[in-house]
Amino acid sequence: MGKRVLVVGGVAGGASAAARIRRLDAEASITVFERGEHVSFSNCALPYYLSRTVEDKDYLVMMTPEGFKASYDIDVRTNNEVLKIDRNRRMVLVKNRITGEEYEEAYDELVLSPGSAPIRPGKIEGISLPHVFTVRNVTDIVKLDSYVRQAKSSNVAVIGGGFIGLEVAENLKEAGMNVSVVEAARQVMAPFDQDMSQILHKELSDHGIELILSDGVKAITEEKVILNSGREVAADTVVLAIGVVPETGLAKDAGLEIGETGAIK
Ligand SMILES: Cc1cc2nc3c(=O)[nH]c(=O)nc-3n(C[C@H](O)[C@H](O)[C@H](O)COP(=O)(O)OP(=O)(O)OC[C@H]3O[C@@H](n4cnc5c(N)ncnc54)[C@H](O)[C@@H]3O)c2cc1C
Repeated sequence: MGKRVLVVGGVAGGASAAARIRRLDAEASITVFERGEHVSFSNCALPYYLSRTVEDKDYLVMMTPEGFKASYDIDVRTNNEVLKIDRNRRMVLVKNRITGEEYEEAYDELVLSPGSAPIRPGKIEGISLPHVFTVRNVTDIVKLDSYVRQAKSSNVAVIGGGFIGLEVAENLKEAGMNVSVVEAARQVMAPFDQDMSQILHKELSDHGIELILSDGVKAITEEKVILNSGREVAADTVVLAIGVVPETGLAKDAGLEIGETGAIK
């Protein structure tokens, strides 16, 4: 019998690793566990569903569990979360998030690719209100999209002027919303030089997006975002795009080393 390989996480890292392992080893038994509803989706295209540049949410998903089975003989289990790693017994404890059932699986090799989660700072008042969204996966973007369309939201505040914040802002504007971008730094897109970011500031302004720089969020209410400066931004929908934090809980719990950036080494 071939080696038993388990992969935790089924998006860019996990799905690619599983496919690569199959190419290297025709005999291996490969299982991918993904906590979410989908594997192998196009994160990069998510914001473009808001404007229907990507017309159908199904186009966001590149590969299904059935496709993995048929093309690579890989067993992909969505809605299945790995809760614990027992390195001595070479076992993982898995929870089926649909049935609630917990079960163990043995491994010879274990690949961790749990990615990173959007930051949601606990200390901001109103951060858990139902109209405050983050964007990581297909489920998130469909939720945000349904909310803005069904609630007939008109004013959206996007917090964070990085790649994801600007893409979300662009596409919500395209979808007909009034969009404000709030950025704590003096410019959007931190990796760019200041003079280059001025071009982006003008582009946002030319498209009618309100840009607020050098200010942060103090509190969120149902109708507005209150900034540190005291300024208030009308918002019936808020999207947080202020960065991500590596998912290291499983690895730390298993005694694995964490690197200097705070991710799994
Ligand atoms: C809106 C958006 C737009 C983006 N656009 C671009 C772009 O244009 N270009 C670019 O290069 N990058 C882009 N990115 C970044 C890119 O998507 C990420 O770099 C990439 O998704 C990282 O892949 P990953 O597999 O490491 O992690 P993730 O995508 O975070 O996937 C990890 C998966 O592991 C699962 N998981 C975690 N823990 C467990 C567990 N214990 N059990 C089971 N499953 C678990 C999670 O549910 C998650 O689905 C974008 C990201 C977003 C959110």
